[in-house]
Amino acid sequence: MKVFKFGGASVKDAAGVRNVAKILECYKEEKILVIVSAMGKTTNMLEKVAEAFYHKNADVAEQIKPIREYHLAIMNELFSNKNHPVFDTINNVFAELEWATDGEQTKSYDFEYDQIVSIGEVIATRIVSAYLNETGLQNLWLDARDYISTDDTWRNAAVNWELTEKNVQQNLVPLFKEGKTKLAITQGFIGVTSENYTTTLGREGSDFTAAIFAYSLSAKDVTIWKDVPGVLNADPKWFDDTVLLNKISYRDAIELAWFGTSVIHPKTIQPLQNKNIPLYVKSFIEPEKTGTVVSNTENPQQIPSFIYRMNQVLISIMSKDFSFIVEKNLMEIFKSFSEAGIKINIMQNTAISFSASVDDDKYKIPTLISALQKDFKVAYNSGLELITIRHYDQQTIERVTINTEVLLELKSRKTVQLLVKNLG
Ligand code: ASP
Ligand code: MG
Repeated sequence: MKVFKFGGASVKDAAGVRNVAKILECYKEEKILVIVSAMGKTTNMLEKVAEAFYHKNADVAEQIKPIREYHLAIMNELFSNKNHPVFDTINNVFAELEWATDGEQTKSYDFEYDQIVSIGEVIATRIVSAYLNETGLQNLWLDARDYISTDDTWRNAAVNWELTEKNVQQNLVPLFKEGKTKLAITQGFIGVTSENYTTTLGREGSDFTAAIFAYSLSAKDVTIWKDVPGVLNADPKWFDDTVLLNKISYRDAIELAWFGTSVIHPKTIQPLQNKNIPLYVKSFIEPEKTGTVVSNTENPQQIPSFIYRMNQVLISIMSKDFSFIVEKNLMEIFKSFSEAGIKINIMQNTAISFSASVDDDKYKIPTLISALQKDFKVAYNSGLELITIRHYDQQTIERVTINTEVLLELKSRKTVQLLVKNLG
């Protein structure tokens, strides 16, 4: 079994959906589970519906309208027969959305968010599946919520691996084994609680879904189809001489993803590594090209990779009375970060201070600072950049620090991280 994942950018319009069909046509002989995300910017639009419904800051119907029009336009291009049942199917999904956003909100915002925002993936897979069937690529539409079992941490649900693997083995594997299908289409990003409520796995979580299914199926490999040729050693936004990494190790991939390479979602690697399943990152624009393979490789390339995280804030915390910052205060400090929902990108401590760089956030950071100020002196410095270089050497460090002031530097054998203020 193979697992393919097509993200929102690959199905953002009718031409994109046709292109997906063209790619799948080349793999007709294989058994494939295809994970599809919401089309284009649908998730962002649905987030507005959730806000309008919960916070009443806008008219819900007004927010739903462009989403319906967007999908209808794509369907009108794909299906010449206006009586095709997919039109009814999608109408029903929108009726459910209207129904879900009609009465009063029941639980928390995060709960309502998951019930609403998950619909983007349902719509996308319904359209893609129907189109593929129409063009001769017979497939089954599967509801990911019949397989991916999670807890009820809304918007960032944790997977119940055991139950998910059991669901997949008992109910999904037989569909392929008994020859019912060679091709199945399902949603990324969504799961279900034991009480049958929909959950989501965190923004951009469809890569992770591909890894969950691959793990549970013990798949042969996973391919993430992207609008870039594979994993590059730097973002072409900052570098004009980027290099494609043909072959990288799981270790490099997880580090690069964690530090902020946006090509692969960081959670994707672990399940694949655990079962030694190779991950291909390939271009849906040039599908014949080899792209990148992430695997348990013996000789990974040692090409320096550069990752930039912009809009960093350096928060410096000092004891008020010149006492040491030791384990006990560090516990308090980490607790404050965790409660504020802030992820630390780089940190350092000295006798009486602790510094951490985090992504800027105009709501979370003031809350954190006022919490910390109860026990500590707090200073902060914003507008910084965090540069991570994997497989660095002195020359690469010099290259990225021209015209900058380095505020913090952290080196391990393979990785250097530099928090800098750009003076240019
Ligand atoms: N549609 C979801 C999002 O945009 C999940 C994904 O694209 O991976 O965040
Ligand atoms: Mg997306």
